[in-house]
Formats: sequence, C-alpha cells, structure tokens
Amino acid sequence: MYKSEVKLSVLGLPVHVMGNYSQWLLTCIQKGKGVHVVTLNAEMTMQAEKNQPLAAVIQKADLVIPDGAGVVLYLRYLLRQAVKRCPGIELAEKLLQEIAQEQPDTKIFFYGGATEVAETAAQFWQDKIPNINIVGTHSGYHSPEEEEILHKTLVKLQPQVIFVGLGVPRQELWIAKNRDLCPQAIWVGVGGSFDIWSGCKNRAPDWLANNNLEWLYRLYQEPWRWRRMLALPEFVIKAFIYRLTAKSIHSAGC
Ligand code: UDP
Repeated sequence: MYKSEVKLSVLGLPVHVMGNYSQWLLTCIQKGKGVHVVTLNAEMTMQAEKNQPLAAVIQKADLVIPDGAGVVLYLRYLLRQAVKRCPGIELAEKLLQEIAQEQPDTKIFFYGGATEVAETAAQFWQDKIPNINIVGTHSGYHSPEEEEILHKTLVKLQPQVIFVGLGVPRQELWIAKNRDLCPQAIWVGVGGSFDIWSGCKNRAPDWLANNNLEWLYRLYQEPWRWRRMLALPEFVIKAFIYRLTAKSIHSAGC
C-alpha cells in the first residue's frame, strides 16, 4: 500500500509525497485501515517546534501532506525535490467527489466550526453531490457534557471519514486522543474548511494562491492573524539555518 510513497523531512517533521493522495485514502477506506491525515504548513511546523505533543502527533501521523507553500518551497529549493502542493481543503474536496463516484455508501462526519457551520457545510455538499452520505455533524464549541455525547455518537455511527475543523493544534491533538473511537476511519484535520464550504469565508483567488501568496489574503481577511503569521518569516530563517547546519555536518564528514 505504501509502495509509491516517498517520505521527506521538513525541519525534522515528515512529509509523504505520492502521486494520488485521494486514491490512496480510498483504498484505506475499502480496507478499513484507520488513518490520521495531517496537512503540514509553515505555521504548523513552527508551532511543533514549541509544542512537543503536537510534534509527536505529526511524527506518528499515517499521512502528512504538503499543504502550505512554505513547505513546498523548502522541499523544492532546499531539498531539490519535485513536490506539488496539496492544500488540505482541496484534498478533502477531491476525496468527497471520488467517494461519491466510487464508494457512495461511505459514511462521512463533519466536526468543528461555530454553531451550524458544519451543518451548512454538509448541506452545501449534499446539494452539490446528492448521493454523498454525510451521517452527522457537530459544532466545535461545546460543553464537556456535549463532548461525551459526541463521543457516543461517533462510536455508534462509526463514520469512515471524519473531517475535524478545530484549527491547529487543537484538531491534531483531538484526533490523536480520540481516533480509537472509530479505529477504521480516515481522520483529517481540515482547519477552516467548513467556514469556506458554508460560505462564511472565501479562499484566496487563484492568482494569489498560484504565486504562493495565499497567506497575504488570509491576513487581509483576518488581520488578527498577524501574530500567528510571524511564524512564516521564522520558518524561512529556520529553514536556511537548518539546511546550512545539515550541509556543514555533511561536509565535515567528507
Ligand atoms: N474552532 C472550533 N472550536 C474551537 C476553536 C476553533 O471549532 O474551539 C474552529 C473555528 O470556528 C474555525 C476553525 O476551527 O472554523 C479554525 O480555522 P483556522 O482557519 O483558524 O484553522 P487553522 O489556520 O488553524 O488551520
């Protein structure tokens, strides 16, 4: 199953590179193989440097995809690997479309976002692809009592694909803690994807995304993110230091 996969490393964190992530995940669904998918970007990489539990979860994840432009540029220009960017939201969308075509009985669950956001996002997909089987949704803000109910619902429904949109690192830590509730499911941390599908927010226009400037659009839409976005220049500096250090260690051995 892992045949076509190449495992690379970005600042010590894994990134799996393969030709077709969604088909690989469809095979996992067919085989009932439980999988945790992490969508790695520069911001998450910097968070993992300061958050050991998050770093451990990323290390253990079954699939880490190159979600962000920073990660892809690192792999292309510092590691000289021909890697294509795979934004998490696009992988989730492709997976939903392929599930509807190839395995429409697959049970899907949306968890996260403000009140009714996951529900509206599910309705959006149900209208777009009528034969999709979304078996439940749950908002991401709730009491510990409701959390208990959510656990029971997941155990009872046993969805095969669970999208968790709680933001980083909450969603990664939540999945790692709770994935045993549905051991055969594909668990994907999807960040703010429900906000986009429900129409609460927009994605950056293609011309910005294609020029590695999606972060600039997010900053324009959500200026309060500026502090979190300091992680981007930090990532660039760390990336160069990491590569220079790695090179000098290598040349010392020559
Ligand atoms: N969120 C949530 N519960 C929380 C905190 C956040 O459901 O306790 C949701 C929030 O409503 C938003 C998503 O998590 O839909 C985070 O989106 P963001 O784009 O910030 O994700 P990130 O950039 O961290 O991937």
